[in-house]
Amino acid sequence: VNETSDSVELQQDKLLGGLLADGFDDEETCLSRYQSAMYYHKGLSEKPSSYLISRLRKYEAQHKQCGPYTESYNKTVEQLRSGAQFTESSECKYVLWISFSGLGNRILTLASAFLYALLTNRVLVVDPGTDMVDLFCEPFPDSSWFLPSDFPLNVQFNNFSQNSDQCYGKMLKNKAVTDSTVASFVYLHIARDYDDHDKLFFCDEEQRFLRNVPWLMMKTDNYFVPYVLLMPSFEQELNDLFPNKETVFHFLGRYLLHPTNNVWGLVVRYYQAYLAKADERVGIQIRVFDTKPGPFQHDATNSSGIPKSRAVLMTSLNSGYFEKVRDIYWEFPTVTGEAVGVYQPSHEGYQQTQKQMHNQKAWAEMYLLSLTDVLATSSWSTFGYVAHGLGGLKLRILYKPENRTVPDPPCPCAMSMEPCFHAPPFFNCKAKRGTYTGELVPCEAL
Ligand code: GDP
Repeated sequence: VNETSDSVELQQDKLLGGLLADGFDDEETCLSRYQSAMYYHKGLSEKPSSYLISRLRKYEAQHKQCGPYTESYNKTVEQLRSGAQFTESSECKYVLWISFSGLGNRILTLASAFLYALLTNRVLVVDPGTDMVDLFCEPFPDSSWFLPSDFPLNVQFNNFSQNSDQCYGKMLKNKAVTDSTVASFVYLHIARDYDDHDKLFFCDEEQRFLRNVPWLMMKTDNYFVPYVLLMPSFEQELNDLFPNKETVFHFLGRYLLHPTNNVWGLVVRYYQAYLAKADERVGIQIRVFDTKPGPFQHDATNSSGIPKSRAVLMTSLNSGYFEKVRDIYWEFPTVTGEAVGVYQPSHEGYQQTQKQMHNQKAWAEMYLLSLTDVLATSSWSTFGYVAHGLGGLKLRILYKPENRTVPDPPCPCAMSMEPCFHAPPFFNCKAKRGTYTGELVPCEAL
């Protein structure tokens, strides 16, 4: 009996207490899904709610029923292809995530789009772009989340913009949205440069029209979850899914985002070679947005306790910071006498798009950072947000230097492990006027 309960417990652990689905036939095709629990020593930051778990199982069933090449999918795609008007409400409705922007941004927007799909009973379909299939495993059993290459509007994705006639913001501006029209698809522009009309997406009233549209196609580079949390129509459901609102990305990220075997190889080999044996692992992500790469001088922080050995994992596009820190720990002894190993997996020089190994390394490095015990990431970097959100880590933020001056303090503690929404709307839907977003949050939620 004990043996059985032990193995049930082991299985539960492997599946993160039920967060992950158990229905995959072949563990070998995505090793990270089953092995990640061995590398995240602390497990999840807390237990997911039983409602979230049951909702995910329900979603998986829905995805299986509506995903690519199912009868319902084929039917709506056929209608899109023929340009026919949608007369009856379609059984399955979709959020199509269009591949856009840097990898950190893409990871955050995938989680945002998935949450929106969950809340609106839609199925998430992912445009594979040039490299998504090489980076992420399928998250849902017996079905694919990737959009097939014969999707009729594939070639239009690049051209979708605020000027497209199907752009919801433009439709609202032109008063082209009426109760009697049911568009077959709508393009949602939620990118950094979105305007006041695009931002009406975050208003309950404007959501009503979208409810009937079979295909919502979304281009975004923003972690827009914080604003969805403020929408009254989703409030109850969100409270049940995430009693602690700080865990949204942590849970959805760990549920959805599993490195493919190639990326997992990069993670595991590096971890085993440089990080596994240390008593404490420290992650430092240096993201320099300045056009001149530095390195600029930064202060060092002391930490309490005397670990026996410490491995510092540094990630950056350049090697300058790494070389300085590594040399300091070689040339001078530490106060406590401990040895500090400093490692940097790559220095790719500059952000490169559409290059498979470059993006695989970036994903592997975000993941490696998330496996550390103590982490400091650069402010304004979605690359860093992914690392601390997945790890569920309390972290320090390296403030962005202005005028090449080290900020004071240089790296304060972060308020939350949730990623930051870089471009929230400055708008009160009810009052229909610009407003300070802080006013919208009820005091009891603080
Ligand atoms: P953000 O610009 O910091 O918000 O992060 P993104 O991930 O969206 O875009 C930055 C891109 O630059 C990454 O996706 C990588 O391609 C590259 N990059 C930036 N920093 C690093 C790093 O430390 N390591 C690696 N391998 N790539 C990086």
